[in-house]
Amino acid sequence: MEENQKKELLELFADKLTRAARLYLDNCTRCGVCIEACHVYQSMPETRYTAVSRAQNIRRLYEKYFKLSGKIAPWWNEAVELDDAWMDRVWETAYTCTGCRRCMTFCPFGIDTGLIQSIAKLLLIGSDREPKVLTMLADVSISKGRNIEATKKSFAQAVRNLEAEVIEKWRSEGGEEAVPLDVQGADVLYVALAGKHSIVPAAAIMNAAGEKWSLSYFEAVNFGAFVGNPKKTKEIAQRIIDEAERLKVKEVAICECGTAYRVMKHMTGKHSFNVITFVELIARYLREGRIKLDKSKIDARITYHDPCQIARQGGIYEEPRYILKHLTDDFVDLQSNRRASYCCGGGGGLVIMGDKEFRMKSAKVKVDEVKATGATILATACENCHSQLSDLMEYYGLETKVQFVSGLVADALVQETASRKVPAATSEEPQLQLTAKAG
Ligand code: SF4
Ligand code: SF4
Repeated sequence: MEENQKKELLELFADKLTRAARLYLDNCTRCGVCIEACHVYQSMPETRYTAVSRAQNIRRLYEKYFKLSGKIAPWWNEAVELDDAWMDRVWETAYTCTGCRRCMTFCPFGIDTGLIQSIAKLLLIGSDREPKVLTMLADVSISKGRNIEATKKSFAQAVRNLEAEVIEKWRSEGGEEAVPLDVQGADVLYVALAGKHSIVPAAAIMNAAGEKWSLSYFEAVNFGAFVGNPKKTKEIAQRIIDEAERLKVKEVAICECGTAYRVMKHMTGKHSFNVITFVELIARYLREGRIKLDKSKIDARITYHDPCQIARQGGIYEEPRYILKHLTDDFVDLQSNRRASYCCGGGGGLVIMGDKEFRMKSAKVKVDEVKATGATILATACENCHSQLSDLMEYYGLETKVQFVSGLVADALVQETASRKVPAATSEEPQLQLTAKAG
């Protein structure tokens, strides 16, 4: 590795050394509590897949270049040189970790392996070694955003073409657009993914609730976050922020996409609007009596997969369960749920990156838990999880069907009894509770 490049990479590393990062790098006691927490290790028990081993690769570099002890006695804490061999080793470390942060939940010091891996990802990007497909998707997304004016007309036409399907699920009142766009002063700006599955059910639900809403021109997905590039992440998120401010909306509701929600809610600072997940909005409509669901529509046991970015990292545990209990009397949780839910195995860009064999093998623990419930519907609230879980069900031959919470709700809307008025909230609030088990 050229000296210049090494210098640049070490500067990138130095930029990431916040107080929190230093704390995580300095304080691992190697107690091993986190080992069993990782779904990859649980499914493929090899040392290289443990959280502590992944972090150790970065710690050794930190020791060498940022600690006095590493300079005086590099052998003491196994300090390593930054070279091509280290970069190759850390590639696997970084991109087989989904950033789910389950290990952090069980670590007595709350060490954030996801954050430590974000250092590795930044160095890989800096040396042009990151997964190119993720960067390409981020670049395409950025370019689409920069040229949005040129595509607004065709987007509006595509949206008009979906309206019949929305009306099939919920008959809007005369004169109302089934999918409103660019509504100044809307209460809710709904940010969807590409694909009608992300627009049609949500539109029907918001129309049923009598919501004053607007569909965003932009896609929710943030490939900048998947690849671990902070600049691209910011640019992709900023255009949604600008649109929300221009329309003067009260809330931005992010569709069922965990990464998009986490970026907007936790990584973009404070705004003039509130940020919520779409499942929170559905739960609110139910609590306020703005929508009603027909339980007889589903004759199946339902279980729920907590998307890491919405649940463990966003604290949204009870809302989806509250919704699903309005759809069935036969809801059953996975053994590891809420904060302790295992990652689906597709996070951190793995669903897109293409090593399907690894994705399937590394998430076997999730499949075993789904099988144990006997559920025939596995609901979730994240596109990435939906893709990965659907692949898993097929790969392991399970009949369980993976469905979005919004899709189940839209198919069970009761047309006659929904009210356009918004009554005061009832006391039937979802209660937070932790029933999770470790490892
Ligand atoms: S549980 Fe925490 S302190 Fe223990 S080995 Fe894992 S990261 Fe280190
Ligand atoms: S963040 Fe998730 S995938 Fe990464 S080491 Fe921790 S438990 Fe494993």
